[in-house]
Amino acid sequence: MDHWEQAIALHGHACCLLAVGYRAAEVALGEFAQMGIATDDLAAIVENRTCAVDAIQAVCRTTLGNGRLRVRDSGKYVFTIGNPKSGKGVRVALKAGILSRPGPEFTALMERVANQEADAEERARFYAWQEPLMRFLLEAGAEEIFEVAPVDFSFSRERLGLVTAVCDRCGEEVATVYIRQLAGGEMLCPACAQASTND
Ligand SMILES: [Zn+2]
Ligand SMILES: [Zn+2]
Repeated sequence: MDHWEQAIALHGHACCLLAVGYRAAEVALGEFAQMGIATDDLAAIVENRTCAVDAIQAVCRTTLGNGRLRVRDSGKYVFTIGNPKSGKGVRVALKAGILSRPGPEFTALMERVANQEADAEERARFYAWQEPLMRFLLEAGAEEIFEVAPVDFSFSRERLGLVTAVCDRCGEEVATVYIRQLAGGEMLCPACAQASTND
């Protein structure tokens, strides 16, 4: 499987936003090859939580589970990808106007489809409408669709709590950093602690 196929396999379908993330990842990998930056332990800070993020995870191997993906949602198609060890990275930003190329109503329909507000006819219309844009995103020169800039890259992983204890109410194991102690000494998981305040 090539990288595009890997992105589709993770995401479940091909779409124009997946293409945005795929091309951003490919552009970053190309820059790293030129700059001589190792690409085996990349990390990514993504500024949206759209289909595009699945392509970043699939291509750059920066995933929620391996702790090398940070979502800093600002509603922008901006992806900062880098090597935390060397402190070198690139910021890849989608140029303004690219996603509205199909027409001014395109992103409004995309928003409805993405939020499961569109009916079957609208969904079919959207997927047919987005096809030429997706092709364009896959085939256009990088400089046509992105602003790319080298950046100093710092990435600190969020600490994981893996030491667990058993909740005094539900009996389920929970990371101790999440346990809340009630005045009476009971040690509760967040859900049971929340329920106890509603008693
Ligand atoms: Zn998608
Ligand atoms: Zn509990």
